[in-house]
Amino acid sequence: MLTLTPIPAFSDNYIWVLHDQSDALAVDPGDAAPLLAYLDAHRLRLRAVLITHCHADHVGGLPALLQQQPHLRIVGPSTLEIATEPVGNGQTVSALGLDFAVSAVPGHTLDHLAYYATPWLFCGDTLFGAGCGRLFEGTPAQMLASLQALATLPPDTQVCPAHEYTLANLQFAQQAEPFNHDIKQRFEHDKTRRAHHYPTLPCKLSLELATNPFLRCNQPAIRQVIEQKEKRIFSSEVEIFAALRRWKDGFKAQDI
Ligand SMILES: [Zn+2]
Repeated sequence: MLTLTPIPAFSDNYIWVLHDQSDALAVDPGDAAPLLAYLDAHRLRLRAVLITHCHADHVGGLPALLQQQPHLRIVGPSTLEIATEPVGNGQTVSALGLDFAVSAVPGHTLDHLAYYATPWLFCGDTLFGAGCGRLFEGTPAQMLASLQALATLPPDTQVCPAHEYTLANLQFAQQAEPFNHDIKQRFEHDKTRRAHHYPTLPCKLSLELATNPFLRCNQPAIRQVIEQKEKRIFSSEVEIFAALRRWKDGFKAQDI
């Protein structure tokens, strides 16, 4: 029986830990201290680390982890110099008795990977609760294709993003799709969870498909809002996605 836990790090990162009560796997350890404290408290041995991309808040803890475990297995994109197992699209990673399918999901960065083993998807800064990552390196077309690929996973997939951004994203989602009842309901539900300091994640992919505007660019309601806002007609889903992403980049969510 495997247990999944999001360990808070920095202001809004999660380091996901999957364990079987003795061996553990961690995803994107940006900071070693909270991870080591958790492993220690639960008497777990870290067997492997999966890295989605090379931003400091995802890999910053690796040197301290290597100091404790010089032979630690580090799986990640080929751009990560200290990866012991560089992996790429279509490969499989075996850990904790699971086979993780690796997919390239460029957009936030060009080297971004996602790892999937039923029912868990570790998607780093690609897919967030009700949102998606900023486009630091990739194009809107790349990010949209990456999100569309993740959207084909089974609806009961447990989505495990690397940041707690859900409430801010849902405020934006309400602007992008004001008459979507599922978004309102999710916002109320997740607001209560955050008020009690519970994570809003993981979340089911089916909920993302119903409430995440970046997975809903083909919806007439979103197209209408974007076309009214930009005062022009859009001819493709990529254009709508790009406009939505630009709008979100400048969107200020209220602190809740
Ligand atoms: Zn990042």
